[in-house]
Amino acid sequence: MDITYSIIAPIYNELENLPELYRRIKTVMDALGEPWELIPVDDGSTDESTALIAQLAQSDPCVRPVIFSRNFGHQIAITAGWDHARGQAVIIIDADLQDPPEVIPDLIQKWREGYEVVYAVRAERQGESWFKKISAAFFYRLIRYITDVNIPVDAGDFRLMDRKVVDVLKRMRERHRFPRGMSAWVGFRQIGVEYVRAPRFAGETKYPFRKMLKLALNAITGFSYFPLQVATFFGFFSAGLAILAIPIVAILRITGSRFFEGQATTLIAVLFLGGVQLISLGILGEYIGRIYDEAKGRPLYIVRQGPEDFQPTQRADQIHKSA
Ligand code: UDP
Ligand code: MG
Repeated sequence: MDITYSIIAPIYNELENLPELYRRIKTVMDALGEPWELIPVDDGSTDESTALIAQLAQSDPCVRPVIFSRNFGHQIAITAGWDHARGQAVIIIDADLQDPPEVIPDLIQKWREGYEVVYAVRAERQGESWFKKISAAFFYRLIRYITDVNIPVDAGDFRLMDRKVVDVLKRMRERHRFPRGMSAWVGFRQIGVEYVRAPRFAGETKYPFRKMLKLALNAITGFSYFPLQVATFFGFFSAGLAILAIPIVAILRITGSRFFEGQATTLIAVLFLGGVQLISLGILGEYIGRIYDEAKGRPLYIVRQGPEDFQPTQRADQIHKSA
């Protein structure tokens, strides 16, 4: 059977959200009247989410889960979704219902008009802290300013992508990922659709500050050399300052002025330069660490159970064939 729509939902401890997520997606997708599949990617949940996903898969062949061996992170879960999706259009959605499934038909409509990437733009964000809103607004603009790719402002991972796009993304196996940047990088015809981002249906955010920072670093290092260039800039800046300061200090001494004398000035200069050098080393280290991770070439994720482990009907087919 050819699948038209694949829906990828990364899941990390979303037990309270799962039944409602499934119900609303099913209502929306069944109404479209075309074959669809839901790919819940269980990112090492420690609550009962895994068992519930297994239950859903057993009762509905449209549900084709991927269960990770441990927590690999939201971005990697999306990647596993791309790898397992069979649909002509692939949709990524958060499991906490902040991205309302009812918006999916709007995305599909644009896809039908010929767009290959349809991203959902957050016109409004409900029920999120001011810190999250401000840091997100700042982050999107910073990324846009320092990277070479045209990453749309205020668009998250909620989006629809054509099969052609997903096939390209599947070949991009970088370890430290920023999926929305990758999907902008590939090009194709892209368009945004506005929607109101709802508050979380239940539970707490699974994105603490630490994970947000990591994602921001992936975005910056993955799509620009800007931090490396900042080091060069500081180098030229302090060298320029020194060249200017030498004649000035010489003149001051000749004219008998005691300005710029003593330990304090030396100390400040040494501390400043030491700081700049250590920061530059740290930035270099950030890039080198990433190169090292790529060089190891480990698999991006490990699957404990894939879609084929859940569907009794398919298993029966296979047994039949091999007999
Ligand atoms: N998520 C995941 N792995 C993680 C953290 C989060 O798969 O390590 C999933 C989570 O279950 C949710 C989505 O990623 O479906 C977005 O997470 P969340 O809603 O907590 O982020 P926020 O909306 O607060 O940015
Ligand atoms: Mg959320």
